[in-house]
Amino acid sequence: TQEREPERQPHAGRRVALFPLPFQGHLSPMLQLADLLRARGLAVTVLHTRSNAPDPARHRHGPDLAFLPIHEAALPEEATSPGADIVAQLLALNAACEAPFRDALASLLPGVACAVVDGQWYAALGAAARLGVPTLALRTDSAATFRSMLAFPRLRDAGFIPIQGERLDEAVPELEPLRMRDLIRVDGCETEALCGFIARVADAMRDSASGVVVNTFDAIEASELGKIEAELSKPTFAVGPLHKLTTARTAAEQYRHFVRLYGPDCACLAWLDAHPPRSVLYVSLGSVACIDHDMFDEMAWGLAASGVPFLWVNRPGSVRGCMPALPYGVDVSRGKIVPWAPQRDVLAHPAIGGFWTHCGWNSTLESVCEGVPMLARPCFADQTVNARYVTHQWGVGLELGEVFDRDRVAVAVRKLMVGEEGAVMRETARRLKIQANQCVAATLAIDNLVKYICSL
Ligand code: UDP
Repeated sequence: TQEREPERQPHAGRRVALFPLPFQGHLSPMLQLADLLRARGLAVTVLHTRSNAPDPARHRHGPDLAFLPIHEAALPEEATSPGADIVAQLLALNAACEAPFRDALASLLPGVACAVVDGQWYAALGAAARLGVPTLALRTDSAATFRSMLAFPRLRDAGFIPIQGERLDEAVPELEPLRMRDLIRVDGCETEALCGFIARVADAMRDSASGVVVNTFDAIEASELGKIEAELSKPTFAVGPLHKLTTARTAAEQYRHFVRLYGPDCACLAWLDAHPPRSVLYVSLGSVACIDHDMFDEMAWGLAASGVPFLWVNRPGSVRGCMPALPYGVDVSRGKIVPWAPQRDVLAHPAIGGFWTHCGWNSTLESVCEGVPMLARPCFADQTVNARYVTHQWGVGLELGEVFDRDRVAVAVRKLMVGEEGAVMRETARRLKIQANQCVAATLAIDNLVKYICSL
């Protein structure tokens, strides 16, 4: 564990209700936050949906940790069909969960001092506020992404959204270093629907949240955090990197949660042991992103042609419409392919020299915290924002263009892994890792958050 022993305050009787969004990249930071609050003497009740529920048996629960399912109705088919986009799912989830969440939270009253709900649960934020429960929103994305969401309605009114093709490389007013092409987008989702969803999130933040908790830290996003606080005039707590602050025990528990879903191949760690330091490229596109079959083939040929050893996560369902089968004749003898990896252990392994990532926020933070430079190839949502910060703000990654072929892949991989440019990024990443560790050692933000909760 990296966490120093927290001071347990006499907060007896103070209970916080947490409500995570039921996706891996959201559940995990919320459960990590639960652990940190408990370690500081607060009691926690995790309200959760029935779909993709955390398994209470996998958590050391007792009087200071309880799980309470809400009884949401099944989502309409159009929100769950394979072609449904994430915005349609989020809108449907919010609609289905509002009343059951309100009833579950009301059943805990008056024993709850405060609620912390995922920042995408705009309906829950409103419901908690109407019950008179002070509620904080946990942003499981970056401060830069959240800022861009707050700016979305303004950008739309000013005519920048929908984004016009000829403006893709223009800087976004007030949001440097973002370009128009880096703003959140979701394939298959109409601009209207996306703007509508983001407006609901931004309105709920303004109208119903008592404060904002962000899984980030000052060394990488101090300026963005300051601007959020100024814009919302609400307390803002940068409590990240959460995965580094929680104890080893919790990490293992989180980990088992993932195992339940995919079953990581831990043998890949032994495979890494047999490789020299910084020689292996880790390739993963997270838990949700899907790519086309053509892109998958070009990745395979390009990775093979780079001559660099690689550990590649081919998650079932990650290639649209089929099982990811390698193209005939490609030589992947330098690589290892697994359905799911113990990612945090992989990134911390000395053999890893680079990470080809979709730039999900958790993956980005995990890479930054281990000092691993990245090859950024975002797919959708906030990944484009994160990729821009990785490559142009922090200087710890190369951008792999939106359209690529095997030759470009091979060149980019070599540039990152054995080139001069990659070496400079690796050194910058090493320095950023030191700063991340300093934040972990301080734990000031989480202590301030607990003080704030106790003042409510
Ligand atoms: N992850 C993992 N093994 C894998 C791929 C991903 O443990 O093979 C974990 C990763 O460590 C991260 C999470 O899944 O914590 C993915 O979250 P992220 O925000 O990066 O992307 P998302 O899945 O939400 O797109």
